[in-house]
Amino acid sequence: MRPKEFVADDHEIDPARVDSDALHILRKLKDAGHTAYLVGGSVRDLLVQREPKDFDISTSARPQEIKKIFRRNCFLIGKRFRLAHIRFGKKIIEVSTFRSGENDSDLIVRDNTWGSEEEDVIRRDFTINGLFYDPFEHKVIDYVGGWEDIHKRVLRSIGDPLVRFKQDPVRMLRLIKFRARFGFDIDEQTKQALITSRKEITKSSPARILEEMLRMLESGAAARFFNLMVQARMLHLLFPMLSDILENEDENQIYDLLQVADQINQQQPKSPLSRPILTACLLFPLVDQALKKKFIDKDKVPHLGDVMMTTSSVIKEFVLTSFSHLPKKLSTVASAIIAMQYRLTPLSGKQSIRHKSLSMKEFPDALHFLKMRAALDPELLKPFKAWNNAWRQHLKKGVQQKHHHPPPAKKG
Ligand code: ATP
Ligand code: MG
Repeated sequence: MRPKEFVADDHEIDPARVDSDALHILRKLKDAGHTAYLVGGSVRDLLVQREPKDFDISTSARPQEIKKIFRRNCFLIGKRFRLAHIRFGKKIIEVSTFRSGENDSDLIVRDNTWGSEEEDVIRRDFTINGLFYDPFEHKVIDYVGGWEDIHKRVLRSIGDPLVRFKQDPVRMLRLIKFRARFGFDIDEQTKQALITSRKEITKSSPARILEEMLRMLESGAAARFFNLMVQARMLHLLFPMLSDILENEDENQIYDLLQVADQINQQQPKSPLSRPILTACLLFPLVDQALKKKFIDKDKVPHLGDVMMTTSSVIKEFVLTSFSHLPKKLSTVASAIIAMQYRLTPLSGKQSIRHKSLSMKEFPDALHFLKMRAALDPELLKPFKAWNNAWRQHLKKGVQQKHHHPPPAKKG
């Protein structure tokens, strides 16, 4: 099939926004006689005037040929999905060879059958993610109707959505992610397929689901994402304890905290809040609710030991009932942030600055989380300021002490 092509006059992509290292790779591949384009998320983001996160490249060059061109800066990775990572210092740009998917089979088994550039895009998930861009010719190349869908703001599966969701159920989560992020509508056939196939989500890999969820927490559209997951009746299949709370939208502490997190992450998309803090936005309300039920509603004030026990039992239950298990380290740090909230703002109401807390490893994250809670509850501003001052003093003292004690002389 001949693709539609759109030249500079048709679109508003500013070639200066393309990463210079990506341009360098494209240039070298072309000079060596290969076809090479930007593809996927970066083309989509350039067209909707957003800053692309990464610049993936698709090319006719085979992995070994890519390796020959970029030598020491090129690492071939992945067995099933062989692709090249080209390194520029800390930055990595992904270069993959055009390949064909197996669009009619049920589950994808082998991904390494090389293909044409057309085959390379029709194996992708949604039309908006299926465009190529050639920055030297200022040309967008469209085999899948992605151009029109981006301009009409529509999310549409490439191929039959029922088949595509069955092949890889994570695509359903990605659909909701793009809806949350861009506010695009979902095409009717794709929407019906989501309703029909939603239960298939539990056939996907828990690690991939967790990664998509964590990325969504960082995205600046987390509150909308979780809301859409509830509406699509998918959240309870993955995280039933969250959906129990989130189904009730009024006075919902999770949505409120996520909105605060979204605001922060929208302002600093390149350095989002840490994953433990973001996880605490989901879990702190669960712990708080449990403490209320167990103690406050019975006119009892829990002491710190009770808080620790409740925190760890709620998180244990969360881990046991969830489809994806949180990595140990993430749940440990998130628990510490949550438990420490009750040191910083004791339920007894008796506020005192205890210096032991300041030297705990998780204190800075816990303080940051308290600041987020204070954005929702002005009563927490006072304790936040007190702790923030104590923390500054503590840091100053640390610096002074360092200066008073010269480092030990090197041996030998
Ligand atoms: P983000 O902006 O969140 O990175 P993205 O669309 O760039 O979104 P990536 O995971 O970086 O997502 O994937 C890059 C590209 O690979 C996508 O744009 C899409 O073309 C393709 N892709 C990713 N996941 C799938 C999938 N599950 N099925 C088919 N194609 C996919
Ligand atoms: Mg991407």
